Amino acid sequence: MPTSRREFIAGLGALALFPIERSEPDLILHNANVWTVNPRQPRAQAIAISNGNFYAIGTNEEVLALAAGSAKKIDLAGHTVLPGFIDAHSHPAEAGLDHLRMVDCDLRSIADILAALRKQAAKIPPGQWVLGFKYDDTKTSDGRPLTLKDLDEALPDHPVFVEHRGGHTAWVNSLALKLTKVDDNTPDPPGGNYDRDPDTGHLTGHVRENAKQAFQQLIPTNFTRDDHREGVKLIAKMMSRTGITSVTDALGSPQDLRAYQDARESGDLSVRVYCSIFFLHIQHMLDAGIRTGLGDEWVRVGFMKMICDGSISERTARLSQPYIGRPNDFGILVSIEDELYEHSRKAHEAGWQMGTHANGDVGIDTTLRVYERLQKEMPRRDPRFRLEHCTVVNDSLVQRIKALGAIPTPFSTYVYYHGEKMKEYGAERLDHMFALRSFIDAGIRPTQASDYPPGPFEPMMALQSEVTRTDSKGTVWGAKQKITLEEAIRVGTVHGAYASYEENLKGSIEPGKLADLVVLGRDPFKTEPSQLINTPVERTMVGGRWVWEA
Ligand SMILES: [Zn+2]
Repeated sequence: MPTSRREFIAGLGALALFPIERSEPDLILHNANVWTVNPRQPRAQAIAISNGNFYAIGTNEEVLALAAGSAKKIDLAGHTVLPGFIDAHSHPAEAGLDHLRMVDCDLRSIADILAALRKQAAKIPPGQWVLGFKYDDTKTSDGRPLTLKDLDEALPDHPVFVEHRGGHTAWVNSLALKLTKVDDNTPDPPGGNYDRDPDTGHLTGHVRENAKQAFQQLIPTNFTRDDHREGVKLIAKMMSRTGITSVTDALGSPQDLRAYQDARESGDLSVRVYCSIFFLHIQHMLDAGIRTGLGDEWVRVGFMKMICDGSISERTARLSQPYIGRPNDFGILVSIEDELYEHSRKAHEAGWQMGTHANGDVGIDTTLRVYERLQKEMPRRDPRFRLEHCTVVNDSLVQRIKALGAIPTPFSTYVYYHGEKMKEYGAERLDHMFALRSFIDAGIRPTQASDYPPGPFEPMMALQSEVTRTDSKGTVWGAKQKITLEEAIRVGTVHGAYASYEENLKGSIEPGKLADLVVLGRDPFKTEPSQLINTPVERTMVGGRWVWEA
């Protein structure tokens, strides 16, 4: 009886309803504490879902009254519901493969790391590589980094290669050195070095930058198409558990795009993906007539990715003022402005969104000049230029970002997780880094972005980091850039949707949008900000289906 129901609904007044006559809600969540992130209806008690979309949002009475015979009802016992979180810059396909074959060394003692590596060694024949990743020398309780001796004693029969979380350095054992024929007399390769003990001259097993290549060349990388799909399945599951419902792959390839499609087809994709394409692959896409936006709400072609300067966690971002304690070090520009422009021009003209890795103020200035020139020479309506990371800013950069309508994607968890690395930027600069307060005040829409693996992706850690600007040891970095919890949630939801041109599709709990949400075990608005990270994620829903239930 659609007519009578419509009349009935009209009488409800405040109830927000999606105007599809034919559908009935198939699921109703009620008795919930809903924060919708929809300014027209910020709070609600109940949500009706139909065919994977939000159908109605309102009070318990209003929404339960819509229940038809077949509608399932779930009493959420007062628990908090937020829109699903959007990680607007991450590397899921690559991280998934890492998790498939490497040992996660994000552990708090060297003994734990060695035990995890030994466990992996026990599963494979002697002589095969044991690989680790996400090791961070500043994160173990031992107060010293891994050594050759540690690795030799724990793993005498397997070559070992343990990568730093930042990805630029690694630790190896003697068997790995033997296989690569690197010894005390081997000269350092250009752009890299094999660390040596200053007293004895012997190798320490720590290898940096290009010195890693000797080992990487020997490590098999023969992944099958199934491996790529399995990797996506694994990382998607990990993300679902934390409340992420959409993710942007910030350095995608045609192979990654295929892996996301394969995972979706086999029913293993539990997060929606906006897949950027690295500029080296762009010609294939242009030739095929593909551009930003192709796909659907599960797997969509994203922006063209370029890289302008270095990294924040490894302290190579290009800065106008030198790093603290290194008066001659301003960081690295990876690309020349003219090159960036040349690569961008074709893609911009063909309708691609641009996303350029730019961390330091010089990197951001350079990237903005390229975007400004593109828009001047070939104006496009609503190009939504992205500044990937956009870490170190100043007032004039913020004004230019605003004028261009560009989107910064600052690291969300770095202050909390990588706090100890911040001293090399200095207190003054920290007041202009991960500058959410400045962006929001200027009317810019920054996103939540983990850059996983380098940064943890848990949205609850992001909220705490952004609201408190405090690291895990209690030190505050750049207090001026604190934002409110409400703002941090907007950054992690609707702003992420805007960054992929999907703000009409997702990012808030309102009728007609995709039913992507998260159920929390505690109301973050009633939680001490320093405890937000411990907020339990009880359930995650994508498209009306639970993809995670604790
Ligand atoms: Zn990245």
